Amino acid sequence: MSTAAVAHAIKNSAVRGAKHWPHKSPALTKLVENNAPLSISPEHDLPMGCWSSQQIRDSVTDHTMVTWAPGKSRHNIPIITHGEGVYLFDDQGNKFLDWTSQAVCSNLGYDLPDTVIDATMKQMKELPFVYSGLGIIEIRARLAKLLAEILPGDLDGFVFPSSGSEANEVAIRMARRYTGKNKIINWYRSYHGGTANTLQATGDFRRNFGGENIPNFIKAFNPYPLFWDYAGDTEEERTQMALNMLEEQVLSEGPHTIALIQLESIVGTGGAIVPPKGYMQGVRAICDKYDILLHMDEVMMGFGRTGKMFGFQHFDGVIPDIVTGAKGLSSAAIPISMTACRKHIMDAFEEESLGWGSTYQAHPVAMTCAYENVKHIIKSDILGHIESLQPIFQEGMKTLAENHPSIKQYRQIGMFGCFDTHLPDGENPQLQAEAFAAYGKAYKKNGLIGIFRAPQLHVAPPLMISPEELWDGFERNDKALYTLDEALGFV
Ligand code: PLP
Repeated sequence: MSTAAVAHAIKNSAVRGAKHWPHKSPALTKLVENNAPLSISPEHDLPMGCWSSQQIRDSVTDHTMVTWAPGKSRHNIPIITHGEGVYLFDDQGNKFLDWTSQAVCSNLGYDLPDTVIDATMKQMKELPFVYSGLGIIEIRARLAKLLAEILPGDLDGFVFPSSGSEANEVAIRMARRYTGKNKIINWYRSYHGGTANTLQATGDFRRNFGGENIPNFIKAFNPYPLFWDYAGDTEEERTQMALNMLEEQVLSEGPHTIALIQLESIVGTGGAIVPPKGYMQGVRAICDKYDILLHMDEVMMGFGRTGKMFGFQHFDGVIPDIVTGAKGLSSAAIPISMTACRKHIMDAFEEESLGWGSTYQAHPVAMTCAYENVKHIIKSDILGHIESLQPIFQEGMKTLAENHPSIKQYRQIGMFGCFDTHLPDGENPQLQAEAFAAYGKAYKKNGLIGIFRAPQLHVAPPLMISPEELWDGFERNDKALYTLDEALGFV
């Protein structure tokens, strides 16, 4: 065949192929009526607070999904009707002392200051929304300036996403785009969020829900492992060993591939783990030596939980390149978070885009709530209040640990404590589901509500709790722990 004939044949077959492809897409057989006239049930016309417990339960059974726990757990979650001070009330008339500020976030309890409520309502009335790329509003300028003033050093640039996970996503994107490198180092004992990247950054069991599909997250051991220790006769030697291990890991991965070391300043969900003296200074030095950014995740610890405004302020001389916060930023009254970065990082994005966004970034109503909440924390001297509660908090932790053989050890800083439990043979009781379920019942029966994650039991009440309420909480917890002692086989 001549070249022209070949070209002609190809052209014809292409045309024939395109026009006469012998394929029929499948016919829709499962037809669903999706245009019924719009109507809602009359129950929606009842004023809020008027649904019976049964109506609520029925709707929850039929329509509500839960997240980290199996779905059936929703049938036993209490129906909460209202809150007052540090207490939550349910539909059965029970009054619970909130022993962990829910997810360590309701830091001001349940009577928010009028300044927070009034300003937030006013913003919602006057201007409920401005898209952050379309208009600047005064509250955005004010919140950023306020936070720049309370964060040390030149942590001057701010993004305001809606959750802690999102704030950490921003941190990861920022670090990768700033450094041009990809790997992130995190601790095993850590939680950084439920989105794809942050779940893989996480070390705890939740990582296995799907985050493991994401590459470039490297896990390091915490400097304070709970069930073994580093070699060394003194804490200083053991800390040095932990740092040596981290540096060896950095060198093995290749410093030119590592964008970020991303750590909780003080590990929250993983058990109130405070890094030993000198450790964070060592991490900062490793970051400086190998041109890696340092991020402190303050989502749980930020805004006062540890007795300082930010957890990393317990580490003399250390300034992170990126800091994230959420929960305490608005005392959980409205979803908002922050990603703060140092001036040189902010400046690097003057000509380049950060490359992250969300419709609700810098939401006016959320920022107003956060602004007044942070001012309230400062003006009402919440840090001073926490300081004054230290003798009671410390005594409470010590007393419970002494009273209960199921408690192996505990750690405490500011308004955050954690007991580690163990079995009579010293083993980890993590899998003793029945024993912890019995403890959960006793916890509730003694008027406490909160989150605990076996083998660890957290103590993190709202920051404004009174001395009497705090001691009362320890007494209730004490009573519940007798059930755990027994259930774990100590009596
Ligand atoms: N980082 C830390 C240290 C946290 O404790 C949490 C939540 O508990 C997150 C990130 C995720 O925050 P969020 O649940 O608001 O997405």
